[in-house]
Amino acid sequence: MPGEWCVAMNPWVAKAVVLAATAVMMAIRAPHGRRSRSVKIARSHKTPRETGLLVLAWVGFLVPLIWVASPAFSFAEYPLHTAPLVAGVVCVVIGLWLFYRSHADLGTNWSITLEVREEHRLITEGVYRGLRHPMYSALVLYSVGQALVIPNWVAGPSNLLAFAVLLALRIRAEERMMNERFGDEYAAYSARTKRLIPGVW
Ligand code: SAH
Repeated sequence: MPGEWCVAMNPWVAKAVVLAATAVMMAIRAPHGRRSRSVKIARSHKTPRETGLLVLAWVGFLVPLIWVASPAFSFAEYPLHTAPLVAGVVCVVIGLWLFYRSHADLGTNWSITLEVREEHRLITEGVYRGLRHPMYSALVLYSVGQALVIPNWVAGPSNLLAFAVLLALRIRAEERMMNERFGDEYAAYSARTKRLIPGVW
């Protein structure tokens, strides 16, 4: 029955989705983070702006968890409906799959900020074959999913807003760093790939 897609749900469903998605994301990242940290940094491009962006990303990540655990944002609550919940879960699941694949393909060449590691390899295969920033695409999908799942005007879009600012200010600097390190190899890779959206940009 089409009307059923509009049924208001218990917000605890959304809270369970947020907690499960956060746990899966942390479980995917933890082993890769540990492995990458064991490889020395050859050159860091971590500017004060990058530090500010990381703080912003952490705030965007924590606000939904504060929403799960406390009534701090109850003034911004609205009813949860089935259709956005289902659409959001689909985005989160695809986002987590792409996050997992991009971590697996990048291996120890990953950093949370702009850094080149010793013996850094340019990855151009797997999910990096057609996109230069599949991990950022994954995080955008995940954040869009959260915005749909969380019935709250503050906690819902917090991750998405933080990522929008982070990506707007980081992608150009990251590509400059990769160009500096890999030269023609990165230029050729850039010429045959898109940034975030397959076939579009
Ligand atoms: N922008 C990429 C990677 C995010 S992690 C993505 O969204 O998938 C950021 C770090 O990854 C950067 O500091 C850089 O050291 C590394 N990196 C980015 N693209 C890479 C590539 N194609 N091959 C190897 N390392 C890469």
